Order: sequence, then structure tokens, then C-alpha cells
Amino acid sequence: MKQDLKSKLKKLLPDIKENVLLSDYTTFRLGGPADFFYEAKTQKDFVKAIKTSRNFGIPFFVLGRGSNILFDDKGFRGLVIRNLVCGARISKKYKKVVGHFDTKINRAHFAPADPQKYLQFDDLDYEQELFDTEVEVFAGTPLQFLIQWSLEKNLCGLQWFAGIPGSVGGAIAYNIHGGTKLFSDYIKEVQVLDKNNKLITIKKEKGNFAYDKSRFQKEDLIIVKAKILLSHGDILRARYVYKEWWQRKLKIQPQINCPGSIFKNFSPEVVKKVGSPTTSAGWFIEQAGLKGKKIGNVKVSEKHANFIVNLGKGKAKDVKKLIKLIKERVKNKFGLDLKEEILVLPEKI
Ligand SMILES: Cc1cc2nc3c(=O)[nH]c(=O)nc-3n(C[C@H](O)[C@H](O)[C@H](O)COP(=O)(O)OP(=O)(O)OC[C@H]3O[C@@H](n4cnc5c(N)ncnc54)[C@H](O)[C@@H]3O)c2cc1C
Repeated sequence: MKQDLKSKLKKLLPDIKENVLLSDYTTFRLGGPADFFYEAKTQKDFVKAIKTSRNFGIPFFVLGRGSNILFDDKGFRGLVIRNLVCGARISKKYKKVVGHFDTKINRAHFAPADPQKYLQFDDLDYEQELFDTEVEVFAGTPLQFLIQWSLEKNLCGLQWFAGIPGSVGGAIAYNIHGGTKLFSDYIKEVQVLDKNNKLITIKKEKGNFAYDKSRFQKEDLIIVKAKILLSHGDILRARYVYKEWWQRKLKIQPQINCPGSIFKNFSPEVVKKVGSPTTSAGWFIEQAGLKGKKIGNVKVSEKHANFIVNLGKGKAKDVKKLIKLIKERVKNKFGLDLKEEILVLPEKI
């Protein structure tokens, strides 16, 4: 980058850093250096960083808590903007029910294969359809903070996402799932910075939400804030589910030096064709004989085959090799195509 552009960038974003190792900002602990790295702590700074990158034609990437991403060993050529803009408030209380679970939305459920090895939640599942309270939350808010805050305020709904270490922005962009629930079940609207640097509001119905999908993954729309709908429901049950669900995840899934599930679970329609007992991607990987498979210093988790763990000195290139191998083996054995749930980001975009 030319020196004068660099100085302009530093003038506009005084706290910007150079050559920052991305491995320090992802739960996988993988990724080389970003040319530039900026942590936005206020909405004004967040918006300014995005506008600045666009105005100067610098490739940029918005990072939440780095729990669903694999950066390249060579890092990222451009600016990584880490969104640390946090905060939540109750913005409206309704006397009547204003939300509902969308029964038409595509959800991939995982039928239990073996409760000792794979998550079992049938006994915990229920639907609380009150949706009487609107909460406004900044996209950089850690999801776990939001859940604890809402449960303390006697608001039910988010207990299904216990233990997921991402930000609200990441939860919306990837429409995270917990049991049979999707984050979009609770969304009312999302405020984004569009490609023309205008703040616009997108209603849930226009978000193209499905299992692990939303339009925010594909379009140049940066999530700034959201309004979600929670319920004054059975708070004791919600708190119980929150603790119990998290405990079950802790027993069955690895928690450190990994992102979340590497692959999406299959849909019930797809697995029906091959007659397997479950939709869980982990089960298929285990059946393909890859549990514990190691390449370099990364390994398919012994705890849960849909997780890859970094043993310490891992490399992104080895994760990519392992992903390729898993896809090939599952395809050969079952004829099914696994699709990545994590984002594999190239060095240049
Ligand atoms: C131990 C563990 C357990 C997990 N369990 C689950 C689970 O049960 N269910 C599940 O669905 N996921 C799970 N995950 C995956 C992950 O936590 C979620 O996908 C999470 O929501 C990602 O949020 P993040 O802030 O970390 O996103 P990042 O990893 O930082 O980013 C992911 C993507 O979101 C985009 N993004 C982030 N913020 C914004 C924004 N403001 N505007 C636009 N795009 C944005 C990024 O650009 C990137 O494309 C788990 C992860 C771990 C490590």
C-alpha cells in the first residue's frame, strides 16, 4: 500500500494496527497477519472504519468473536474490523403477542444417533410463543452476555443458544441454531450499513433466513444493530434449559482451539434417501472412520467428529486438507455432499 494512503488511514483511524496475527482473535487460534486491524468500540467508529475502507477501496472484513472462521495461514490482505460495539436494552413492551415461530422456514434437525456421543434435546424442547418484549442490541455484543442479561431480566427465548461463543452479528449472519431453534425465530428487524453507507432497516421477512443462512452472508450488508423479540414466559424452565443444554454440549463437544461444527448437518429429506439414523454430520464422519484423524497438528476431535481441533501449532492448510479428505470419504461411503458451516476465508477477497 502506498505510504500516503497508509498515513491517511492512520489519521482517520488513529488506533489502527499493522500486521496483527489473526490467530489471536479466533477460537481456532489459526490465521496469519492482517495488513491492518482495527477494533471498533463505538457505533460511530465502526461505521467510520467501514466507510473509510470503502472510500479508499481497501478490502475489509468484519470480524465478530471469530468463532466460526478459518483464516488463511498468510492472513488477510486488507483491513480486519473487529466489532466490539456492545449493549442491549429493552426497547418496547407489548400487551399482546407480536411474534411467532415460522413453520415454513427450512430447519435441519438432527435426530439423535447415540445420546452418549451426540446431542440429545428432545426431552428439553418446547416452544414459548409469547413474544411480548422487544430488545435492541448492538451487533458486537457477545451472545452469552445477551443471554445471561435477558434471563436475569426474566426474558425467555435465547436459552437454546447456551454456550455459543459468538457475537450477535455473527449469530444473525449465520442464523445460528440451538436444538430445533434458529436465531431468526427471535429477530424482528436488523439495522445494517448498506453498500452505499446508508443505515437501513431490514425486516425479518426480508432476511432470507434458513438453517445457517441469511442474506447477510452474501450481500454487502454490515449488521450494526438488531431488534429481537423475547417472552415473559416460564423463566424457571428457560433457566433450566440454559444450564442443562450447556452441560450436555460441554460433555459431548470440544470447546477450545476449535471453531463450531465444521460442516452443516444434513436435512431429514437427504438422510432419508440413504436410510441413516441421524442427520448429524458428525455421525457420518465417524462412520467414514475419520474420528481422531490427524494431519500435521490438527485433528478430527475424538469427542465429536464434526469438530476439528488445533493441537497447538496447527496450520490452516492442514485444516483445509482434512476438510477435503472428510468430504471425499463421506461422499464415497454415503454419496452425500457435506457443506462447510464455518467460513473459510482466503487471503485475498
Ligand atoms: C465451542 C463452539 C460451539 C458452537 N456452537 C454452535 C452452535 O451450537 N450452533 C451454531 O449455530 N453455531 C455454533 N458455533 C459457531 C459460532 O459460534 C457461531 O456461528 C457464531 O454466531 C459466530 O459468531 P462470531 O461473532 O464468532 O462470528 P465470526 O466468526 O467472527 O464471523 C463469522 C461470520 O459472520 C460475519 N459477521 C460477524 N459480525 C458481522 C456483522 N456485524 N455484520 C455482518 N457480518 C458479520 C463475519 O463477517 C463472518 O462472515 C460454535 C462455536 C464454537 C467455538
